[in-house]
Amino acid sequence: MNLPKPIQEFIDAFSELPSVGPRQATRLAFRLIRQGPSTINRLAKSAALLGKIKVCSRCFFIHDQEGPLCDICTHTKREHDIFLIVEKETDLMSIERSSAYQGRYLVIGEAPKSGVLEPWQVMRLSVLKKTIQDTLPSQKAREIIIGTNPSTYSDAMGTRIKQELQSHTEKITFLGRGIPTGGEIEFSDEETLSHALHRRQ
Ligand SMILES: [Zn+2]
Repeated sequence: MNLPKPIQEFIDAFSELPSVGPRQATRLAFRLIRQGPSTINRLAKSAALLGKIKVCSRCFFIHDQEGPLCDICTHTKREHDIFLIVEKETDLMSIERSSAYQGRYLVIGEAPKSGVLEPWQVMRLSVLKKTIQDTLPSQKAREIIIGTNPSTYSDAMGTRIKQELQSHTEKITFLGRGIPTGGEIEFSDEETLSHALHRRQ
């Protein structure tokens, strides 16, 4: 049986999303059809607006500011010589919610399973090095905190990042000793994240 073309196209598009397979996409399609045009229009509109979101050219977090930088990078009251490297945007958001950190960030992306940094991740590290050179008179960060998640791949990536950045900072520390192994920064509560930040080493 051939499905009508719009349904098939919807399924194809949604199946490309992480953790959504063709079966879930099919179920979602029928569910939306049942819910009717107003739900579908709202969803289409909000998805289209996501297309307007930009990625900060310095820390690679998302923003909708004018210009290339996000509001964390342009915030004058935040410490400009401390950098926390996180894997995902949602990790950054969890740390921001804890209010325990007032420096800048770099979103490096999830740890590759190959154990080798992807070219675009190497490029992000180069952007951080350049930011340090261009914005800090000493050309060295006061501290770089590596906030990768506690897992084998992430630990390997953390070690790699440390090697890359060691000569660009006075001090390099690791976050996550307070976060249980296999846990995720994204899902840690605010208190755990504050402790992990205070006990960084
Ligand atoms: Zn930024």
